[in-house]
Amino acid sequence: MRAAPETEKRQFEDEALESLWELYEKSGSGMGTGGETVSLEELKSSLENAPALDGMHKEELIEISGGRVKFTGAGRLRARDITRRHRLAERLFADILALNEYEEDACRFEHAISPEVEEAICTFLGHPPTCPHNRPIPRGKCCKLYAKKVTPLVASLADSQVGEDYKVVFLRTPMIDRLASIGLVAGSLIRLVQKKPSYVLKVDETTIAVEEEVAKGVFVKKP
Ligand SMILES: [Zn+2]
Ligand SMILES: [Zn+2]
Repeated sequence: MRAAPETEKRQFEDEALESLWELYEKSGSGMGTGGETVSLEELKSSLENAPALDGMHKEELIEISGGRVKFTGAGRLRARDITRRHRLAERLFADILALNEYEEDACRFEHAISPEVEEAICTFLGHPPTCPHNRPIPRGKCCKLYAKKVTPLVASLADSQVGEDYKVVFLRTPMIDRLASIGLVAGSLIRLVQKKPSYVLKVDETTIAVEEEVAKGVFVKKP
């Protein structure tokens, strides 16, 4: 199915703004906040449909002059936003879903999520500062709030408190089948009984011991 022209245009704009954001990053020129420019040739070479850039010029997202290009205020905000969503998606796909191939999906995902979902993902991931390629994730409102208080919503058992009850959110360990066989699955309510010398958990009425490596792959939140 082909996207509607309006959607296609928006997606092109998003991709172009994202590319421009990356060029700014590479050039280390402070995201264009001081009106810095980057090479128009370089931007065009990173885009599949370079001629559509002229349309963006008219939309007042970018300014082009003398072979150089820069963000307008509105363009920079939108670039920041789309870059943030792309990199959060990468973190979600790489860390939580443990996918190796996710770039194309991250590109589609970034257009598809609402600000509420974006914030929920960021909070779920613990407001990560960088993407899997170690590029900075622009901060959101949720991240600023987080800087002042609370720990991540979801943490591994290794970072959780002894004596507390938790709900398992997901498991990232090769032992997933073995854990499932003793009732430890996403959604289980557990208590962390001790961490040393080994991890001891209570799942329902059963007490089990797991190695630290396994505990690190069990992610929980307060019930
Ligand atoms: Zn990345
Ligand atoms: Zn955040």
